[in-house]
Amino acid sequence: MIYGLLTPDVPLGPFEGSPITVWSAQGKQTKLHTSSSCSYLRSARATEREVYLDASVVARMCPQCGAYSSWARPGTGLAVFLDTLTGLGLLYELDSFRDADEDACGDEEVRQAASLLHRPAPAVPTDTAAQDEAEDDEDAAWEELQESRRVREAVFREWRGALASMHRAHQQLELFPWLRSWAEAALQMKADRLRAVQVQARLLVTEDTLLAAAAAAAMQEPDVPADDAAFALLGCPAEARKKLLSLWRRWQRTVEDSWDPPREQAYLVHHLADGMSSRRKGRDQMLERARAVMAGWESRVRLASARTYDEQVLVACLPHNAATERDSRRSLLDRLDEWELGVLAVYTVDTDWQPQSVITMRVPEPVAARLLTQQHGLSYTEREAAGMEPAPDAVSALSPLAEPSFGPGVFDDTPVRSRRPVTLAHLRALRAAMRDAEQLYVVFSADAGLEVVALSVLEQRCAAGWRGVIIAGASDLPDALFDSQRTPAGQDAPEDGEIWPERVYDPHHAAFGAGLGVAEGERVLLRLCAGRRDVDHALRSLALARGMADLRQLETAGYDDRGFARRPFASAVWHGLLAMEQLDLQPFEPAIETGWRRGSGLPLGVLAQVQVYTSDAAGRYQGRAHSPGCAHRRPEHGVGRDDDLVTLEELIGSKDFDPCSKCGGYAIRRLTQDQVAYYRAAHRLHHLAQQVHAVARDVGGDGSDLAAELEEFIRLDRNQTEAWFPSREQACQWREIVDRLRRTLPGPGPA
Ligand SMILES: [Zn+2]
Ligand SMILES: [Zn+2]
Repeated sequence: MIYGLLTPDVPLGPFEGSPITVWSAQGKQTKLHTSSSCSYLRSARATEREVYLDASVVARMCPQCGAYSSWARPGTGLAVFLDTLTGLGLLYELDSFRDADEDACGDEEVRQAASLLHRPAPAVPTDTAAQDEAEDDEDAAWEELQESRRVREAVFREWRGALASMHRAHQQLELFPWLRSWAEAALQMKADRLRAVQVQARLLVTEDTLLAAAAAAAMQEPDVPADDAAFALLGCPAEARKKLLSLWRRWQRTVEDSWDPPREQAYLVHHLADGMSSRRKGRDQMLERARAVMAGWESRVRLASARTYDEQVLVACLPHNAATERDSRRSLLDRLDEWELGVLAVYTVDTDWQPQSVITMRVPEPVAARLLTQQHGLSYTEREAAGMEPAPDAVSALSPLAEPSFGPGVFDDTPVRSRRPVTLAHLRALRAAMRDAEQLYVVFSADAGLEVVALSVLEQRCAAGWRGVIIAGASDLPDALFDSQRTPAGQDAPEDGEIWPERVYDPHHAAFGAGLGVAEGERVLLRLCAGRRDVDHALRSLALARGMADLRQLETAGYDDRGFARRPFASAVWHGLLAMEQLDLQPFEPAIETGWRRGSGLPLGVLAQVQVYTSDAAGRYQGRAHSPGCAHRRPEHGVGRDDDLVTLEELIGSKDFDPCSKCGGYAIRRLTQDQVAYYRAAHRLHHLAQQVHAVARDVGGDGSDLAAELEEFIRLDRNQTEAWFPSREQACQWREIVDRLRRTLPGPGPA
């Protein structure tokens, strides 16, 4: 069965005329397919072409291909529109809960079930013959009661489903207002059915029961007759008291969440006899006495339910995500307890769907008190209060300035000049329609210019009133920029798990320092992602993140459906951005003649501004500082808003920096080519300096080879000087150090 097929009568609104790419065999009336591999496309001579979406194209869509939204590239406005409609989307919603289906309960059936459910408790007969007969009756009555409960379950299941479906349909229509008049007839049928099922549901729960439950919820801990002789079986009076109070709490929890009358919970007394032999002397008397105690609690709540109360009008707004849990047909309503569902069924007087789904209820005062003060599945407010402070969603939907609908131009399928500001509703639709919507986006606002942010961050901003446009998402970037970077399959794939390059310690080796560089980051990323489907996405994310001034802004907000922190890219991308190993800074340490470690006093030069990410740059928090890649910190690699960002120069100056011995305490933003070149040059010079000092100490040593090697560092060309030293002072410092080394060298030995 294919659900929610797009049909030619569905108005396409602003998407009418959008170009789409299709495959088809020859002939004017042949079906159109989204790919050449569709099993319904039999002809080998199918060709690919571009057509403009309209009713005639929709009529020719292959039903197999048409059920899914692959008519447009994922993430585009058209794809979001089609995906929201097809499959288990809007078209399916409009088609469901319109009439009573064959499983639905008839009104007569419901009335019968209701009368059985609400039948008063039978009187207990006294003589033995009557007792036997009564037991048979009881069995039959129990069967009937079970059947009635099944009816109640079925009716409430349909009602919850119809309510959630209506909520979903209206939410989806909000985005595409041009569909509203077309959908009107279907919505009317859905509303009628919803009302009919609510009438049935209302019959199956009584107000008395709901009031009794509210009274039970409000009940204070009662006194219990713990020193009653019948309870001696439970232990000393203190123990008996503990057990009786535990029974009371169990009774209260059960009664307050239930839509059955409290007397149905009488079986709970048997918990007192848990682990007790049924032949134990005094057991039956103990249970008998406990039943009487429980009956006392029951009569207190019954009394409360028999009174008449003032009424109060409350409203409950169905939250936006109440019915849109991805990959699941469950809704928030499926998680409500029996009592709350019963209250909604019995007391709802009105339901609005636009601009927001709002349920209005007229409830007796004790029910209102409970709804307003305790935690429930939905949140309830007094109508007056709700009227004074409309929810932010409602404001934006009512405001004439709000972007009215979802058309081309919000996502990337139009020229930049006709781009339209993105709203929270657009992003919600994108997230609902696109599996990997959480990615990085290049966005532009007049306030902050161009930025790169994750979808979840963009959602937060839109909710706070940010106004801007999406320029492109990671998946919108042109393939041409990334294809060349991909190594052919099999090549450069990790052999024997060789992902990380071997560390080079010899500064004269050409690869010294390269492991810290940007280019190596990309190679590491490719090796980490080798064979994975998301390698392309990882490269695009790396490219976008490289342009960001502060990587801490990459932190996402919120959690996905499964409760995990949202991730815009694979954690391997962090290794492309950061080098998790530390720099060897000895060449830059002061040239003091004490200790075994002697620096060369070289200027930091272009390395001074290298970004350092650490959990604590200045010893402000308890514990050691960790690098973003340290396993001591959190399961996920990466930089968060709580991390410190300092420059290398600042880190060196921070006396209280206390690094973790495992991770070294920090990671650096990967070095540019110039930074790698200077890092290597500084290490080579430092190494030479050590040799120079050794030769100088050695009487009669020959320094001519070293002098030749030093030449290279004296004659830096202008490009090198400018690339390595941000100030002339540093360039001079470098030259002076090399000069001093040259002078230290003994001349050529006697020939
Ligand atoms: Zn097809
Ligand atoms: Zn650590």
